[in-house]
Amino acid sequence: MEYKSKNRSQTQKIAKDLSQKFKNTGGIIALMGDLGAGKTTFTQGFAKALGIKEKIISPTFVITRQHQIPNTNRFLFHIDLYRLENITSLPEIGISEFIDQKNSIVIIEWPEKILNLLPDETIKIKIEKIKNNERKIKISP
Ligand code: ADP
Ligand code: MG
Repeated sequence: MEYKSKNRSQTQKIAKDLSQKFKNTGGIIALMGDLGAGKTTFTQGFAKALGIKEKIISPTFVITRQHQIPNTNRFLFHIDLYRLENITSLPEIGISEFIDQKNSIVIIEWPEKILNLLPDETIKIKIEKIKNNERKIKISP
């Protein structure tokens, strides 16, 4: 699916719509795009739609931020791999535990470095800046 977004809230609406698929199930989302494309903005919309009240910021100095999904025993793990290099296995960056928890949702910014290590069923999203506030958002499958 391919979407056009003209502002932050349209990007967050697209994220909200995707979050509905995860109401009762976990999964992994690889969120690609350059700096400033809108990956964190997308994650904010996704988290808000799940009822998460905590502030979603780019987890730049810690790799992972963990947010409980209200009224559930499930978690949203927000991961940012921007600063990591030469990753050859998931255990070495400590994220295999989350990925193995079938119930949790894992959103990964800068997943390019570990794409080949992620399960086949990973949802891949690419956000591209077209100009100013315009973004193209591609979700596959
Ligand atoms: P990333 O996490 O990809 O580096 P951020 O979400 O932190 O990007 O930042 C995206 C920036 O682009 C924000 O300042 C946001 O206000 C701006 N922006 C402008 N238009 C859009 C849009 N259509 N969708 C998402 N962000 C947008
Ligand atoms: Mg970010």
